Amino acid sequence: MLRFYIHTFGCQMNVHDSQRMGDILRTTGMHEADSPSDADLIVVNTCSVREKAEAKLDSELGQLKRLKKHSRPPVLAVAGCVARQRGQALLDRMPYVDIVLGPDRIQDLPALARAAADGAPPVVHTAFDIDSPTFLRIGTSSSLGAPSAFVAISKGCDERCSFCIVPSTRGPERHRPADEIVAEIDALVSGGAKEIVLLGQTVNGYRDPSGALADRRAGRGIASSDFPALLRRIADQVPALKRLRYTSPHPRYFDRSLADAHRDLDVLCRHVHMPVQSGSDPVLRRMLRRHSRQEYLESVRMLREARADMTFGTDLIVGFPGETDDDFAQTLSLMREVRFAGVFAFKYSPRPDTAALKLDGELPDEVKSDRLARLFELSDDLLAAHFATLVGTVQHVLVEEQGPRGDGRLSGRTERNEIVHLPAGLALGDIVPVRIQRAFRHSLEGVVLGSDGGHAAGPRRLPIVAPDPG
Ligand code: SF4
Repeated sequence: MLRFYIHTFGCQMNVHDSQRMGDILRTTGMHEADSPSDADLIVVNTCSVREKAEAKLDSELGQLKRLKKHSRPPVLAVAGCVARQRGQALLDRMPYVDIVLGPDRIQDLPALARAAADGAPPVVHTAFDIDSPTFLRIGTSSSLGAPSAFVAISKGCDERCSFCIVPSTRGPERHRPADEIVAEIDALVSGGAKEIVLLGQTVNGYRDPSGALADRRAGRGIASSDFPALLRRIADQVPALKRLRYTSPHPRYFDRSLADAHRDLDVLCRHVHMPVQSGSDPVLRRMLRRHSRQEYLESVRMLREARADMTFGTDLIVGFPGETDDDFAQTLSLMREVRFAGVFAFKYSPRPDTAALKLDGELPDEVKSDRLARLFELSDDLLAAHFATLVGTVQHVLVEEQGPRGDGRLSGRTERNEIVHLPAGLALGDIVPVRIQRAFRHSLEGVVLGSDGGHAAGPRRLPIVAPDPG
């Protein structure tokens, strides 16, 4: 087996897991194929958070089935949350799948793939690694050298939000030793990363299993989480790191010590994406979120006090069972109060093994669609108002990737996560000063400044007029 192809659905944790799968496969001498039809091993890394993502998976697997009719058919593996959730049922329905691989079993992929290529029967391999959790280290590969890299600090979730399938697909919460986290960040930064994004389902509930942060924790009087101490340690021990982000924090674990870390550490980006899901207390209670609207707003207030220009993003669910017009109005009012500069919002969709299935008051789809449209209208208005304040300002932009048009132009992000379109001719990983000239719907454009504060010469000059790429 020489070539692999990985198709990733879902969240950043899945992107991270796919990168680690690629790392592991490369250590066996395999390399990445350009398309599924060129691959000896195809991995579909799945998401089951919403019904729509699962439907997409079924259609993807239906397409891949035809490749199994080739004279040298590829090994087909289904990984991620759907693999864990459906297990044997997936094989029963799709017997052409060779491997069903749970999120905690990535390290076994090469051996399982080899066995399948040699004719082993289909296998379901999805047990959690509860007793000795594994956090796969960065490999030698593509993950090194990227301007921005994910580092998992915990996995699983001990919350029980009533709409969420993650605790059953990712298992109970397990945390990675702080020394290991810092060592991996150090390796990534030495390899060229400028930005690290710490990952965990409730990332700010991190507790160091080695106890190495315990003294700091005791000293700072933090009872619930070692996360602020971890942030300080990363800042101390990897001074070359330029930007540090984290996702997704849970409002329950926001406290003064985390706000203080934002106040004290310049490396922490001035944007926090903190899921709230609803602005209505009765809905939050039915969601079993274990925080109130007021507590959420208090966290926002503390963070704005720590960094006045902090911006916020969030996740919202509309049409949760029993959500009234008034509940929805509360969500819109919370959006206005926080002035979110980025919202991921979805219609509620019932998920297996979740407590919300027992709730009355499922809403008609037209009501959900209407609310979602109104929510997006407001979210666009809030973002436009925020972007308007940026036109004419200078922002430092990390050059991250090729732009979507394939014309050599690039794109990057500001410290606060705004997407900025950049001209060709810049190096990936540079952090460049950009005077913002135009705001589109979801992105910005400007001119790169020279060291004297004027426009840089040559290819650094951006066109003044361009169609909306956002
Ligand atoms: S905190 Fe809630 S929404 Fe987030 S992963 Fe855990 S159960 Fe799901």
